[in-house]
Amino acid sequence: MLGTCKLCGAENAKMARSHIIPKRLYGKTLAPNPKGSVDTVIARFDGLEKPKRSPKGEYDTTLLCSDCEARFQYLDGVGAKVLYQSHWSGVHFDSTTKRPKLLESDSGRSNDFRLFLVFLLWRMSATQRQMFSNVKAQKLESLWARALLEQDVSVARNLDCILVKFERSDNPLMGPARQRHDGVNGYKVLFAGYSIWLKTDERPLPTVFKKASAFKGQKIRALHMKFDDSPEKRALLKFIDADTGVDGLKFGEWAEINSKLDK
Ligand SMILES: [Zn+2]
Repeated sequence: MLGTCKLCGAENAKMARSHIIPKRLYGKTLAPNPKGSVDTVIARFDGLEKPKRSPKGEYDTTLLCSDCEARFQYLDGVGAKVLYQSHWSGVHFDSTTKRPKLLESDSGRSNDFRLFLVFLLWRMSATQRQMFSNVKAQKLESLWARALLEQDVSVARNLDCILVKFERSDNPLMGPARQRHDGVNGYKVLFAGYSIWLKTDERPLPTVFKKASAFKGQKIRALHMKFDDSPEKRALLKFIDADTGVDGLKFGEWAEINSKLDK
C-alpha cells in the first residue's frame, strides 16, 4: 500500500504495518476471553462506556513508510532489551520486609531507551487507531518526530516517565489511560511485566514524583511492585468484571509508594 509517511513526510511511499505498542512488549500477556481460554489483549479502559479490546494487538498501515519502520525498529529492540534482558538490582529497600522498592537496570543505554519511549509516544499520538484516540499531544508530537529524525533525545524536552516493574510478567496489556497529576498530563500503559506512566506535558514531573522518575543521570530505574497488590490489578479485575468502563487508576497510590521510598 502506498501512502504518505507521517514521520518523514515521504509521499507515495510504501507503507509499513506498524504496531503501536511493539509486539516484543506483549510477552505472555494474558486475559481470559469469552470462551474461557486466554489471549494476548490490549484493553483501553479510561472513561469509555465499554472498555475496548483488541485481541490481536493494534497496528497501523498509514503511519510509517517502510524505510522509517526499518530505520527505527532497533529502538523497539532497545526497549525490549532494557526491560526484559537487563539485570535489575535493588537500590532502595523496605526496611522491615527487606524487599526492594526501587530497582536500577544495569543497561548502559539510557539515551536509546529514552528515544524508544519517544518512538512509542509518537506512535500513540500520531496513529488514527481508535484505541489510541484519547492520546492527544499535538504540540509535543512534532518535537518527538524531530527527536527521532535527528536521533537526538534532547530535542524531546522534558521527556519523563515512571516505570513500575511487577514481579510477574503475565499481566495484560492495557491502556492508554489518560492520567493527570497535579495538572501534569500523561498516559499510563501496561505491558508485560511493567506499567509505565509517560509524561506528555512540557512541564516537569510534580515534585512528589521526581524521586520515582525512571531516569536518574544515565541510570534507568523502576519502582518494584507485586502485581497482585497493584492498582493495575484492581483496575484489570474491574475491567474484566464490569460491563461499563473504569475511570482510570488512582495515581495517588503511586505517590504513596514513592513517599515510602527509603531516603
Ligand atoms: Zn518515513
